[in-house]
Amino acid sequence: MVKVTPKKQQFQNLVHVMNALPDQQAAIANFTAIRWKQGAFCPHCGSVKVYHFSDKRRHKCSDCRKRFSIKVGTIFEDSKIGLREWMLAIWLVTSHNRGMTSAQLAKDIGVTQKTAWLMLNRLRLAAQTKSFNRPLDREIEVDESFIGGKGAPASRISG
Ligand SMILES: [Zn+2]
Repeated sequence: MVKVTPKKQQFQNLVHVMNALPDQQAAIANFTAIRWKQGAFCPHCGSVKVYHFSDKRRHKCSDCRKRFSIKVGTIFEDSKIGLREWMLAIWLVTSHNRGMTSAQLAKDIGVTQKTAWLMLNRLRLAAQTKSFNRPLDREIEVDESFIGGKGAPASRISG
């Protein structure tokens, strides 16, 4: 079984999750709080001198001058999938002790099975590395459509 972050504990059921994450901006704020719980940092150079645009979605590093969203440098990068769908998927996957198939996840959050399959594989990677950070030195593995199944090691995901 996969467990996710201290944040996970605040959601006791699906209604709670939906209320806490009513839209994409709420999901972005939720994930930002997880990823930057020690403070904001640039995913490109690590600088902590980060400016925030008023839309609360874009940020800019005052050292390397690059702009980025909170998804950059994480397993959520380079996917069109919204953070709200990601957060819902994490909650669903971690709530189903026997694991979840891509067909189930696709149906539950309204994405294609191919998308759900990609999501499950990335969440599986996060469970393995105990982090939402995107590994820089290797391709993200896509070999199974199943996460947190029987016999999967207990692990935690953190920012
Ligand atoms: Zn930077």
